[in-house]
This record gives sequence, structure tokens and C-alpha cells, in this order.
Amino acid sequence: MNNQNEELIKLQELEKQIVKLDKRLRELPLQLKALDDRIFERAHSVEQAQQSISENQQRRLAQEKKVESVKAEIQNKKRELNSIKTNKEYTAKLAEIEIQEKRKEEAEEGVIQLLLDADKMQETIGEVKERSRLDVEALQKEKDLFLQEKGEKEGQLKELNQRKKELRTLIDPENLRIYESLSKKTGGVPLSVVTRDFCAECFVKIRPQVMMDLRKGDKVIYCENCHRVLILEPVKVQE
Ligand SMILES: [Zn+2]
Repeated sequence: MNNQNEELIKLQELEKQIVKLDKRLRELPLQLKALDDRIFERAHSVEQAQQSISENQQRRLAQEKKVESVKAEIQNKKRELNSIKTNKEYTAKLAEIEIQEKRKEEAEEGVIQLLLDADKMQETIGEVKERSRLDVEALQKEKDLFLQEKGEKEGQLKELNQRKKELRTLIDPENLRIYESLSKKTGGVPLSVVTRDFCAECFVKIRPQVMMDLRKGDKVIYCENCHRVLILEPVKVQE
């Protein structure tokens, strides 16, 4: 295994990068989904405001119809006054007319109130639309950045996997077997590059005897604590 330190370390570095990219690429769709939800919600706020405006219009039309029908009723009653013979009937009719006049006033006030409400809503819809437009725009920008990142990371991942594939062909199958079986047990980090007399992964001090064996370099030496393969620095790892 010692004869291929450089390739093995490169392989470990590649795999670390691949794990990182994989993790990010799994997070990205969730972040994109959350952004889509927010974009939908912001766009929907305009629809809701528009819905309120159209409801207001419907109610105003109904109220205007009511005004017209009460007016017609008042006209009828006024005409009926001409054919009334007694004072008592006349007074009663006038009272009826007065009641209808009140109803008309109330209905007219209702129309005015609805018109005032509509004015306010028209002002607000402008704000709602503008706010929604700005929010959607900002969210869309955020989304574009994520999409760009996704594309880049997918490209990088493809490239790293290709490099890994090529690198593996350069490594002796027996070395690869040891590397991989150890990789599973060590969370993908089977090698520890020793700079001084400490294990670089578990930071436990390496015994002098083990360091001597390691320097001899004629067999595979494992960290006595974390059981990773110890590899001596300096090794030039090319990117
Ligand atoms: Zn260790």
C-alpha cells in the first residue's frame, strides 16, 4: 500500500469533495422548493387583493340596484297619493314614503361606503402588487443563484467522479480493497496523513516504535487508536 500513498491520498481527497458536493446537491432541491412556495405565496397575495376588489364591486352593484328599486317604490307611492280620499290614508301613505326614503338614504350611504372602500383597495392593490413584484423578483434572483450553483455543482461532481474513476484504475486492486473496506469503517476517511508524531484524524500521539515502522515504509501501519492507515508526510498532493 505504501508505494501508492500519493494516489490513495488523492483518492481520499476526491472522495471528501464528492461527499461535500453530494450533500449540497441534496440540500439544493429543498431550498428551491421552499423558494417556489414563497414565490407562489407572494404572487397569490395579489390574487387575494383582487378578489376583495371584485367582491366589493359585486356588493356595490347589488346596493345600486336596491337604491333604484326603492326609488321606484317611492315614485309609486307618491303617485298613489293623488288618488287618496281621506286624510288618514294620506298620512299613512306619507309615513310609508318616509320609511322608504330612509331605506333609500341607507342604501345610498352603503353605495358611498363601498365606493370609498374600493378607492382604498385600489390604492392598496398598487402597493400589494408592487410589494409582491419586488418580493417575487428578489426571490427569483435567489432562485437563479441556487439554480446556477446547482448546475455548477453537478458539473463539478461529474468531473470529480470521472477523475475518481481514472484514479482508481491506477491503484493496485489489493490496495483498493484495503482502502475501501477501511473507508466504510471510518466514515470515508481511511487514511491519516501524519505530519509530526500525531494521527492527523484522531490526534492521538503515535508511539516512537510505530513511527519507526512507519518511516521504514515496508508494511502498512495502522493508527492504534482509530485504525486508519498512517501515511507519512511530506507527500505532494496534486489538485
Ligand atoms: Zn488515529
